[in-house]
Amino acid sequence: MRVLILTGSGVSAESGIPTFRGKDGYWRNLDPIKLTTPEAFARDPQLVWEWYRERRRRIRNARPNAAHQAIARLAQCTNDFLLVTQNVDDLHARGGIPAQKMVQIHGDIFVTRCSRCEFERYDYKHDHEQEESIPKCSQCTALMRPGVVWFDEHLPWNEVVRVETFLDSGSCDVVIVAGTTATFSYIIDWALRGRRDGGHLIEVNPEETPLSRFATRVVREPAAIALPPIVDELIASG
Ligand SMILES: [Zn+2]
Repeated sequence: MRVLILTGSGVSAESGIPTFRGKDGYWRNLDPIKLTTPEAFARDPQLVWEWYRERRRRIRNARPNAAHQAIARLAQCTNDFLLVTQNVDDLHARGGIPAQKMVQIHGDIFVTRCSRCEFERYDYKHDHEQEESIPKCSQCTALMRPGVVWFDEHLPWNEVVRVETFLDSGSCDVVIVAGTTATFSYIIDWALRGRRDGGHLIEVNPEETPLSRFATRVVREPAAIALPPIVDELIASG
């Protein structure tokens, strides 16, 4: 069985990581959508870092939920498997997905990278978390920024290539799109190309999305409730 899974913030929301959209996402009365841009970082890097440090703390304290665990179970039972997540947290990894079966297409919140040169480091529990100041690059002294893709920025090239390579090597039997409103055109494109030879397209999302009309099965429930029985069914059908 060849499987592609695409996930978004709805999957992490059930672990207590608020989505950007909606009132829950607000932080100090600020809209995160306006904080997570190159312009916001240029204007007020201190404020942007405060938001990301708080977000990192929240993620470290969160736990993978039943949706993360179900996806990891399916990954274990399937050789030909790729998870493409828009989530920058590490909950899929902690849920048990090996790195080679996962692409974090919007980056990794625990990476701190230089805003000018190529230097980056992994900051899972780094001292800089406790500092009030803005981290500076040890190679070129420019400001460091979180290693995530901000609105209107390019996707990481290497990760795009991994997705394209997986898609090029064959159509999938099953594509599952879970916890995402599928607002980005590349998510829609990958989901549809993933099942181009007529595989199943299962959508798990409480609301309708642009992919709904292409889905062969739609489950209007949160991912943590909907995914475990779907995965059981897929594993049983082999
Ligand atoms: Zn640098």
